[in-house]
Amino acid sequence: MKLTMIGTGYVGLVSGVCFAELGNEVICVDAAAHKIDMLNAGEVPIYEPGLKELIASNRAKEQLSFTTDLNEAVGYADIIFIAVGTPSLPNGEANLSYIEQAAADIARAMNGHKIIVTKSTVPVGTNEMIRDLISRNTSHSFAVASVPEFLREGTAVQDTLAPDRVVIGTEDGETLRTLVELHKRLTHHIITTDIRSAEMIKYASNAFLATKISFINEIANICEKVGADVTRVAEGMGYDRRIGSAFLKAGIGYGGSCFPKDTEALIQIAGHVDYEFKLLKSVVEVNNDQRFNVIRKLKEALGPLEGRNIAVWGLAFKPDTDDVRDAPAMDIIQSLLAQGAHVRAYDPIAQANFRRELDHPSITWAEDAWEAAQDSEAVCLLTEWSEFRLVDLNELAAVMKDHVLIDGRNVFGPEQVLLSPFRYYSVGRPDLT
Ligand code: NAD
Repeated sequence: MKLTMIGTGYVGLVSGVCFAELGNEVICVDAAAHKIDMLNAGEVPIYEPGLKELIASNRAKEQLSFTTDLNEAVGYADIIFIAVGTPSLPNGEANLSYIEQAAADIARAMNGHKIIVTKSTVPVGTNEMIRDLISRNTSHSFAVASVPEFLREGTAVQDTLAPDRVVIGTEDGETLRTLVELHKRLTHHIITTDIRSAEMIKYASNAFLATKISFINEIANICEKVGADVTRVAEGMGYDRRIGSAFLKAGIGYGGSCFPKDTEALIQIAGHVDYEFKLLKSVVEVNNDQRFNVIRKLKEALGPLEGRNIAVWGLAFKPDTDDVRDAPAMDIIQSLLAQGAHVRAYDPIAQANFRRELDHPSITWAEDAWEAAQDSEAVCLLTEWSEFRLVDLNELAAVMKDHVLIDGRNVFGPEQVLLSPFRYYSVGRPDLT
């Protein structure tokens, strides 16, 4: 099939490349000329394992191309995917201005019948808004569908090529047949539904996952007070198939470009129909507090933080991505700076992105984890990059001025810590001091 992907971010680029890999002809279009220039030069604007190789092979087969010319891209394709961003507005609602712009651009560029599929995460009713907006601006026939995206950054390629399920929401039978045909090689689990339910499935899924994380983090906070070990508690819970072990890892809370904004947006969606989503409000509140436990534990270990050298390991909101949107490290480093600490920051992939968002004379940008730890009084591990797991704690202690380790992701085990000089604070497990 001939496909156009509007927006070449984490979702649009990965989806476009994977559809090309399946044998479709795909044009990816983006308003940001620098991204398209990079892609046309064989570079990839985001870090995502496996993506670069797939882009190269599909460009070589002429199944995949990149352009800023939306007219050409829309004219070319039978199916047009909208994968632009839907960030939060200050009040928590989803900002739909990129969606509206894309829809208006599509309407102007249409040259015949099109299927217009929204992949972006959008509030219930948005696809109807898109339909109205386009129909006011074109005389051509078209159908709309909601096919929300569930990929995870860091494993986006494998998630796209082998998703747990594909959700297709449309009220048009022919469109449904075409979209099932397009997706059927990816999974046997294709859920077909109405547009509003498809839109809701995406928010409900993210809200549920966020709830699991905040739930286990609250259990962790109680474990700390009663002397239990949350990793054992989660293991004991997770074997129950009604519960499942996924997303029961206690830590410093969720971040990233999806959970924070989608939970806020769903609270707003509920509010618009006079429903107070009390549970989800608490999930958000717990998450907002959780990251500051790092600061509390640091103060417990070191006293006032003014003038202290604190190493921060990990800036991305999770491993294997360069995405720093709403990363817990952002709030934690800001709090350290506000208290007069010197921060020695390191991330294997996300450092440049983070530095663009937050730079300060009291931050030293380290080349590696060791340089960050050099002469520090504490290391705060905020993202569980695999290279941190391999660190020998005695060798680490040798380069540091004092030996405090705040493990925000429970990466190290007591057996490693007890053989080292560290005073060790993790999440939901007894302190080893
Ligand atoms: P992103 O910010 O990485 O990419 C969006 C891209 O759209 C940008 O490159 C931007 O330049 C481009 N764009 C914006 N307006 C445009 C226009 N009118 N014409 C052409 N290009 C335009 O965003 P993302 O992370 O890929 O997320 C996209 C959507 O998918 C969001 O709604 C998000 O909630 C959802 N989603 C994201 C993820 C994820 O892990 N990132 C997962 C599932 C769903």
